[in-house]
Amino acid sequence: LVEARAVTKTFGRNEVLKGIDLAVRRGEVLCLLGPSGSGKSTFLRCINHLEKISGGELEVAGELVGYRRSGDSLHELREKEVAAKRAEIGMVFQRFNLFPHMTALENVMEAPVRVRGTKRAQAREEAVALLQRVGLADKADHHPSQLSGGQQQRVAIARALAMKPRLMLFDEPTSALDPELVGEVLDVMKGLARDGMTMVVVTHEIGFAREVADTVAFMDGGVIVEYGPPAQVLGDPREARTRAFLSKVL
Ligand code: ATP
Ligand code: MG
Repeated sequence: LVEARAVTKTFGRNEVLKGIDLAVRRGEVLCLLGPSGSGKSTFLRCINHLEKISGGELEVAGELVGYRRSGDSLHELREKEVAAKRAEIGMVFQRFNLFPHMTALENVMEAPVRVRGTKRAQAREEAVALLQRVGLADKADHHPSQLSGGQQQRVAIARALAMKPRLMLFDEPTSALDPELVGEVLDVMKGLARDGMTMVVVTHEIGFAREVADTVAFMDGGVIVEYGPPAQVLGDPREARTRAFLSKVL
């Protein structure tokens, strides 16, 4: 579903991604680990059209990100087309970014109604089901300020799911949470993985990666240093840099 070939990204003269190769098949979970500044968020943002890659090729669902093929030639997507593509991908950030003036239910309904033109009654029905799925059926009428961080993050996940994405991207979804709230968010993510959602998850939760990931990639300095099944990358890393990183986060 996601395929990166020699993807590079530079900001000015700073090359942040230095040739990323990786693939995520449909229904798979990829966990991306690595020290601060290694380029993890930048890579997610490239997948989601929030940044443009500088070189290489990046495909989502068989289409080059940022381009559309017509006949033999490639055309850059227009703003509207980019927005439509982005709507097919769900993203959850470290900070929950819910709309503070809306209830949990309204937060989840907002994008389908505004972006897709879904009828309010239908959007409401789907939003209720999604809040149930993340264990918050009883909090539908609460505003974000009335919810814990873990609950807000679960609303954020429900909100992303409301657009029926084919791919979910998570950028350190639990690192802003108090430790006792991390588990409830990871449980929701585990449920998603079990239901077959394709996910790319930037996280330092090694236990989650070990249990849920099909593939773990360790990134450092804009390159994938090591890539493979969790048992190998986490349990028996080949690279000294991976070992050094794991000894710090474990
Ligand atoms: P962290 O674990 O701290 O979130 P990260 O692996 O997600 O780190 P990125 O946020 O991808 O790292 O940043 C990688 C590098 O790219 C950093 O050196 C950062 O300063 C640089 N960078 C990121 N976004 C921009 C931008 N919009 N303009 C210029 N430089 C940027
Ligand atoms: Mg980051």
